[in-house]
Amino acid sequence: MAKKREYKYYPDDFGALPVKALHMKLDFDVFEDHTVVTSDFTMKVKKGPLSVLALDAKNLEIQEVYFFDDPEGKTSKHHLHHTYEKEKDKLFLHFPEKLRLGRVFTIRTKTLCCPTANILEGLYYDETPKGKPKTMITQCQQWGFQRLVPCLDDMTAKCIYTTTITADSRYTSIITNGDLVSSKELGNGRKQVVYHNHKTPMAPYLFFLGVGTYATFKRPCTYPDGSSFTLELLLPPGTKPELASRALDILNDSILWVHVFTGKEPYKDYEKREELMHLLRQRDSTPPKDKQYAGILQRLKDLAGELTLGYAYTGSVYREIGMQNSDFGGMENVGNTTIITNRIVPFPEMSDPAFEYLIAVKVHEFFHNINGSEVTGASPFEIWLNEAVTVFIEQKYTDYLFGEDYKRIQTIMHLYTPMIGTFAGDLSPNSMPILPEGFNNPNELISGVTYVKAPEMVRMLEATMGKEAFMAGLSGYFEKFSHSNATTLDWIEAMEKQTGQHYKEFLMHWLTTTGFPVLHVTTEYKKGICTLSLVQEGKAIPWQFPLTLSLVDEHGKDIHSTGKTFFIKKQKETIRIPTPAAPAFVSLARDHSFYGKTVNHSATREQLMLQALVDPNIPARFMAFKELVEQEKIKIITNPRKTIDPSLISLFGKVLLDPTLDPGIKAMMLIIEESVKDDSLSHKYKEIYIAKEAIKKGIAYYYQKELLAIYSALGKSQTQKSYMGQMISDIKQRKLKNVCLSFLSSLDTRQIHQLIRKQLTSPSATDRYSAFSLFLTTSAPDKTKLAQKLRGEYARHHVSWESYLGIVSGAECDEVYTLITEAEKDERYCAEQATEQRALYMPFAMNRKRSVLTGKGLGFLTDTIIKLTKINEMSGHRMLSAFNQLHLLDPADQVRVVGKLLAIKDELPEKEFPSVHNNVLRILKNCPTAIASYEKGHRKQVKL
Ligand SMILES: [Zn+2]
Repeated sequence: MAKKREYKYYPDDFGALPVKALHMKLDFDVFEDHTVVTSDFTMKVKKGPLSVLALDAKNLEIQEVYFFDDPEGKTSKHHLHHTYEKEKDKLFLHFPEKLRLGRVFTIRTKTLCCPTANILEGLYYDETPKGKPKTMITQCQQWGFQRLVPCLDDMTAKCIYTTTITADSRYTSIITNGDLVSSKELGNGRKQVVYHNHKTPMAPYLFFLGVGTYATFKRPCTYPDGSSFTLELLLPPGTKPELASRALDILNDSILWVHVFTGKEPYKDYEKREELMHLLRQRDSTPPKDKQYAGILQRLKDLAGELTLGYAYTGSVYREIGMQNSDFGGMENVGNTTIITNRIVPFPEMSDPAFEYLIAVKVHEFFHNINGSEVTGASPFEIWLNEAVTVFIEQKYTDYLFGEDYKRIQTIMHLYTPMIGTFAGDLSPNSMPILPEGFNNPNELISGVTYVKAPEMVRMLEATMGKEAFMAGLSGYFEKFSHSNATTLDWIEAMEKQTGQHYKEFLMHWLTTTGFPVLHVTTEYKKGICTLSLVQEGKAIPWQFPLTLSLVDEHGKDIHSTGKTFFIKKQKETIRIPTPAAPAFVSLARDHSFYGKTVNHSATREQLMLQALVDPNIPARFMAFKELVEQEKIKIITNPRKTIDPSLISLFGKVLLDPTLDPGIKAMMLIIEESVKDDSLSHKYKEIYIAKEAIKKGIAYYYQKELLAIYSALGKSQTQKSYMGQMISDIKQRKLKNVCLSFLSSLDTRQIHQLIRKQLTSPSATDRYSAFSLFLTTSAPDKTKLAQKLRGEYARHHVSWESYLGIVSGAECDEVYTLITEAEKDERYCAEQATEQRALYMPFAMNRKRSVLTGKGLGFLTDTIIKLTKINEMSGHRMLSAFNQLHLLDPADQVRVVGKLLAIKDELPEKEFPSVHNNVLRILKNCPTAIASYEKGHRKQVKL
C-alpha cells in the first residue's frame, strides 16, 4: 500500500502545462446572488498530441462547453464532450480528435458562480453601504480564479485578458484589471464596462473583479522625468477626504522612493538620489504657481537624466481598494491592490503599529508589481520568492523613513516574540521550511516563515554579496525573467552570476530546513590577538551565515580595523583578530547579522553592562541589554524569592535617562517582554509572567519620579515640518511614554489608576488603547464596568472596534472570559469578518498561561477553534499556534492538551477542513512524548 501522503500537494503536482494560455475573453453578468461567466479561453498546444485537457473549476455550475477551431472563436463552433469531477475541482475536456503540437484553439464555457459571505476566496460579499446593491469583490490568490471560471489556475498560465462586466448601474465602481476601454448604460438598470489587460500577460491569481459603492479619491503620481499616472483610492462612502488625501500622499511617496532607491545601482550617487527624493517631495508640496516650481522641475529632469533609476509603474491607473473582510492584509491584484479598510487610510482611531503597517503594506503591494506580478514564482512553492524580496524592499523603505536601527530592532523583537514570534514558530512541531516538502492549502505558505525568515535569508545573502552587488544581481534577475516565471534555482543562479560566487549550498540549506543555528562563542585575548571560538548547535548543523562583529574599547569606540563580516560555514570555527589592546567587549552579530541565536559564554556581567550602555551598534547594544534582563528573569523563574539585582536597576536608570537614544528605540529596550530566550524555560508561561511583573515593579518602585517626569514631558513637541516626519516623531515618543506608564501601572496605586484613567481621554488613539489595556490589569474595582462603557464608545468606528476586541481578548485578568463573551454577543460584532474574529480570539489564544495551562482556558480555546474553523478555516488554523510548545509542556498539561487536540481533529474532518485537521495531526505526530503522556494518563492507545 502506498504511504499516506502527509500533504495534499507536492512539487510534482506543478509540472509544465500541456498548453500555453494566450487570451481569456471574459464576460461577467453580475447579479446579487449569482454571476454568469462566459469565457473564450484561447490556448496553444505545447505538449501534443492532446486528447484530454483538465481545467481547474471549483464549485461552478457548468452550463455549456464549446470548442472553436480558430483563435478568434468565430467559426466552427461545436459542443465539446466534457466531464466535471467536482470533488477534484477539475473540468475534463475530451477532444474529438487529438490536437497537434502548436495548434491554437478556443474553449468557450458558460458557467455560474455564487458569492458567499464567509469563503473569502473567489467572488464574495464585502460589507455593503446601507441601501446600496451588494458589494462583491474577488480574492484569487492562491486558487480563487477557478471559483470564478474554468481556467488553468497556475502561476505559469500567464495570458492577456479582455473583460466585460455587466452589473447593476447603481454601483459607483465596476472594475477589473487593465485599462477601461468602454462604459455604457444598457437602459435596463444595468451598465456594461469593458477592460483590456493587453499590455502585460498576467497570472490568474492576480485577477480582480469588484462591484460596489465607493467614494473615489485620486491624485497624480509624477516621476522626475515628468511622466505620470493616476493613483486612485476606493473607500467606503463617507470617508473624510483629508484622510484619503493623506493616504494618497503616503502611497505617492513610497512609489517615488521605489523609483529613486531601487534598481541596478541605487547606492551610486547616493547624495544625488537623496536630493532627488527631497526635490520630489518639495515639488509635491509646492503649488505650481509658486515661482520656485519651474526651477524644481528643471532640476528634477536634470538629475533624472544623470541617474539610473529603478522601477517605474507601467499602467495608467494604480488603484487601492478598501476591503472590509479578507484573510489577508493586502493583495497585489494587478493595478487593483486590495487593502483591508482598517489599514488603508490613517484613521485617527488607528493605533501606531497599525499606522506603521499602513505604510509598509502600501509599498509592499506596490513593489509586487515587479516582484510577483511581472516576475512570478513558478509554483506555490515559490510564493516565498514573491514575498521575501518584496518584504526586503519594503523594509528598505521603512528604514528610510523611521531609521534603520529602529526598524531593525522591531524585526528582532518579532523574531524573539513568544508564541507567535518567528523563532517560536520555526521551532514548533508544525513549522515548515521556507521551501516546504508539501502543503495542504496554499494559505499555509503565508506564514512567519515566508514573511520574516525568508526575508532574513535574503538579508544574509545581501550581507554576503555586499549591498551593491545584491541590488545589481536582483536587477539582472528582474530583467531576465521579465513577464515570465522563475524558480528558486533561477533566482539563486541569477544572484550567483552577479558575483561569480556559489550560494546554492548556503541558501538551499536555509530554504529546506526548519529551525536555525545557535552560535556558541568563547573569546580569549593573548599577546595582541583576540581569538573567537565558534561552535554551532541545534539541528541540521552546520548552517552557513554572515557573522558581523567588532572589538570595542571601554569608551564604546570600535577598535580600528577589527570590524568585519565573516562568512561562517563549519560547525566549529576559529577567528583570530589582531588588536593593539584587549577589547573591553566583543560586539557580536551586529545588526543581528544572521537568523539564529548567539550565546557569548565569555561575556562577563560587567562586559554586558558596558555593552548595554556604549556599544555603537544599536541592535547589538539592544541585545546586550536584553541578555541582562533575560538573566534576571531566569534567576527569578528558578528562584522566585530572589530580589532584583541593584546593578540592573541602575542600568535601567541610565538607559532611561540616556539623552542620545532615539525614544522609540529606548522604549523597545526598556520594555520587559513576557518571554525568555532559553528554550528549556520558554514554556514556563506562568513563571515568566511572574518574573516579568516582579522586575517591572522593582524598576517602577525605584524610578517612580523619573518615570513620571518623562511620562509627562513626552509627546508635546511639534518639531517636524512634514506630516510624516511629525507622525513618526510622535509615534516614537508615544512608545516611550506608554512604556513608562506600563512600568508605573505595576505599582497599582490609586494615583496611578487616576493617571491611566486620565489617559483614556487622550487625543491619541494609541494612548487611549494603552491606557485601556493597562487599566484591565490593575486592581481597580470598576474595570469591567469601564470596559462595558468603552464598548459602546469604541464600537462607533470599525478601527476602534477592532482595537476594542483585541484589548479585551488580551486582557490580563480573570474577567477576560466575560469580556470576550459579551463582545461576541454584541450586535456590532460581525462573526464572519476575519479581522474581527482574529482580534477577538488571537490575543487570548496566545496568552498560553491561561489558554493552554488552565482547564477553563483550554476548554474555551478548543470550543473557539472548532466554532471559528467552521466559519473561516484560515482563522482557526492560525489559532493552532497556541499549541506549538506542546512537546515542552509538563506531562499533566500534555494529557489535557492532547485530549483537546484529538477532539478538534474528530470534530473537524479532513475532507471539509484539511488545513486544521492535518495540522492538528502534524502537531500530534511531532510530539511523541505528549502522546505517550496521554496514553499513560488514559491507559489507551492513540491512533493517528
Ligand atoms: Zn506580498
